[in-house]
Amino acid sequence: MSPPSPKLIHDLPTPDPESPSLSRPRQPYRFSTLCATVDSPNADHKDQHGSSSVPIYQTATFKGVAGQYDYTRSGNPTRTHLEHHIAKISSAAHAFAVSSGMAALDVITRILKPGCEVIAGDDLYGGTNRLLTYLKTHMGVTVHHVDTTNPPTILPYLNPGKTAMVLLETPTNPLLKIVDIARISAMVKEKCEDAVIVVDNTMMSPYLQRPLEHGADIVYDSATKYLSGHHDLMAGVITCNRDDLAKQVAFIINSVGNGLTPFDSFLLLRGTKTLAIRMDRQQSTAMLVAQMLSRLGFVTHYPGLPNHPGKEIHERIADGYGAVLSFETGDKELSERIVGATRLWGISVSFGAVNSLISMPCVMSHASIDPATRAARGLPEDLIRLCVGIEDPADLLDDLQHALVEAGAITLAANDYIRIPNTINKAVEKLALGEPRIQSNRIRENREWFVSAPGKVILFGEHAVVHGVTAVAASVDLRCYGLTSSRHDNKVSVHFSDISDYQHEWDIDDLPWDAATPIPPGEEHPDTLDQKLVDAINARALPPAGEMSSSAHGASLAFLYLYMTLSLGAERPSFHFVTRSTLPVSAGLGSSASYSVCIATALLLLNKRITLPPFPPRSREPAPPGDPGHLHTTHQGRRAITPTIAAEVNRWAFVAEKVLHGNPSGVDNSVAVFGGALAYTRPGFGKKSGMEQIQGFKSLRFLLTNSKIPRDTKRLVAGVAQKKMQEPEVVDKLLDAIQTIGDEARRALADPELSREALLSALSALIDENHAHLVALGVSHPALEAIKSLAGSEPYRLSTKLTGAGGGGCAVTLVPDDFQDAVLNTLVAALQKDNFQPYLTAVGGSGLGILSPYDHGLLAQDGQVNGPVTPPETPGEELDEVVHANGAASLLPQFKTLTNTQLPKWAEERGRWLYV
Ligand code: PLP
Repeated sequence: MSPPSPKLIHDLPTPDPESPSLSRPRQPYRFSTLCATVDSPNADHKDQHGSSSVPIYQTATFKGVAGQYDYTRSGNPTRTHLEHHIAKISSAAHAFAVSSGMAALDVITRILKPGCEVIAGDDLYGGTNRLLTYLKTHMGVTVHHVDTTNPPTILPYLNPGKTAMVLLETPTNPLLKIVDIARISAMVKEKCEDAVIVVDNTMMSPYLQRPLEHGADIVYDSATKYLSGHHDLMAGVITCNRDDLAKQVAFIINSVGNGLTPFDSFLLLRGTKTLAIRMDRQQSTAMLVAQMLSRLGFVTHYPGLPNHPGKEIHERIADGYGAVLSFETGDKELSERIVGATRLWGISVSFGAVNSLISMPCVMSHASIDPATRAARGLPEDLIRLCVGIEDPADLLDDLQHALVEAGAITLAANDYIRIPNTINKAVEKLALGEPRIQSNRIRENREWFVSAPGKVILFGEHAVVHGVTAVAASVDLRCYGLTSSRHDNKVSVHFSDISDYQHEWDIDDLPWDAATPIPPGEEHPDTLDQKLVDAINARALPPAGEMSSSAHGASLAFLYLYMTLSLGAERPSFHFVTRSTLPVSAGLGSSASYSVCIATALLLLNKRITLPPFPPRSREPAPPGDPGHLHTTHQGRRAITPTIAAEVNRWAFVAEKVLHGNPSGVDNSVAVFGGALAYTRPGFGKKSGMEQIQGFKSLRFLLTNSKIPRDTKRLVAGVAQKKMQEPEVVDKLLDAIQTIGDEARRALADPELSREALLSALSALIDENHAHLVALGVSHPALEAIKSLAGSEPYRLSTKLTGAGGGGCAVTLVPDDFQDAVLNTLVAALQKDNFQPYLTAVGGSGLGILSPYDHGLLAQDGQVNGPVTPPETPGEELDEVVHANGAASLLPQFKTLTNTQLPKWAEERGRWLYV
């Protein structure tokens, strides 16, 4: 079988009657013809205007008493057309369209009664498992999960009179295991003739597999996938030949009301017309991709490959191999890097759309299954799933090859790509990162690491969050920057430019190592801090409290605590660490968290506890075959910091935050690592607690104004708690109102339908409302009110609220996209005149950033550094030449002297930043 092949559906109806004048009978129409031609279900459905596309009958009710339709829950002409069409292409007597694939399974399983038994595969779609578990725990249905790829294993579970349903899926997702539907159907019918065989046909679609032809009684598809083909609707379809089953299905759909809406029926009908042509393209490319991966030596799962287990069975029951495949790399982190390095393959769950997708099932679609069960099912943690779309095959292959090279999985040798064995890969990583030269028990590190992390603003819910209300926090594009430079004198030093230019250095051997308990890589820091180490650092490594500012004290303590906990054995890096911050320090904008993220990242990198992907392709490399020879520039480091690295940094940044604040919520460091926006609910209030990334958060312009009034957060929080005790009803009402504001804001931010203008106007109203509630809680300050009233006055009329604890600190003013710069400048000047410090910023941008250690050498003719220079000793002879010719290109001198205004642009121009 070599897809694409013409499909003959011999027992499908041919619309035209045979013409007696023709010498031979008409041939039955082929599948793609059936797909493209939509017939009227019957004479009653002839369109009065002769519309060539089925109209959308967007109506809930129909006039009259004896017509075919009365109410759309029971039936709608657009849905009838779709169902007729699906029945036709599925060679089924009956078809039904419902609101999703899961809705289809829900309808089907309502046939079951308490006491019934179900036999199901052990490698099913996660949602199917969830529904079956619900039936088991709530509906008195017994479910046996068995390995359906081995038909005899079901025999012991066939229980005549009890076994009511057998649920199969083939090929399975994501391992593409094959189930012999025909053999299992025959086995079941022999022993339990009343049992209904149900097949989830989503992976194949009716084009490639029609299980009704192989003994299944009911087939369903998540039409969200191939049938619709564009990921723009959710739908499920159910097909069957048996009239009794059809009657039950129709009854349930009418009873529960999950029939597909007229508009979605229209869209699905439209998508179905191109099913065959899409599938042909998708599966022929899938074969090319599978062959490429297999040839490179990756374990590749695709039924079209020789030796795929069950290939012959699949070829017997299906007409093609489909467009989903998966492969193993042998290294989870390598897989994460590959996924992160693709451009054309979008990272997404689901499959079946015209655009190609890539995912790691264990981290994404199957993350809800616990690791032990995943392991028991043989689901490799490093598995990458590819869902092939209709893009040009050459582009898809090229993009994947580049991602594999960039991630360090393959390399170009003798004009062909070859796999880098994982052991060598690890060694290459080490080499690329400058294998430390250990001298007198020290890591000798010649690299400069340049890192940065954003601050945060609380947009909604401050104070109320203490009492269980959900707060919305977002990253702000004012950042803390950290630069490490190696020292070779056995010392470690810090320079906090924004904390009164504080500098200090320590002889590494003089640090109180006897009190430290280093934590090995892979292990987590305990929940509580090591008080012995904190005390020892305070007593023996830091000047007495009165001799340094509390901010410098906190920053030094957190730095040394992490340094001593992360340095294992003799490997104690000697280096200088300089920080710069464009964020106002101690203004409630998460400056300590962004600092914590910078020190955690720098120390994890220096101690090689996190490593970045090895070299991206260089422009000097010969072009791969088929490549037009353009420069191999890699794209901006979007997604280049893997979730594993980000999570590790976040854990250690949280430890630093604990050193600084005692009992932090973890919101600030999470925003500083992950960027974007998140919603946070404290535990202990009887609702779902924790942090949740707000998907689709759109970057917004804000004017952030520091009142420069210091505030006492603890006193303000205690004040609200006292008010709550004194006037519980008033305060509870305010808290409820703030919760509603946060909920509405999240809804608006995540709503793809909402226009930008409507979003901004909704947020403005919510900002004003939230501020009024904070005033009522007694946490504002005359300075904050002055900022609010100035920004709200003519001609600005902008909405402002305090952010953070209040009582001083900062206010945020939402600036609409079309707000004129000239007008904004007058507002900025007016605020400055009143002795406030305004910052024009955006919220919701990137999280942690690391300057790529591989870019180098873009030095201009005049010797000026005008391109990436970090690190000065990146391996490679050519770089040594460059460095020799131009002197060591250290970032440090400029980093220390640039103004806060120059810093962000300068940093961005140093090279390619890799971001979370
Ligand atoms: N069956 C399979 C094999 C699936 O992959 C999915 C969804 O991913 C479903 C069923 C559920 O379909 P839906 O998401 O349309 O409810």
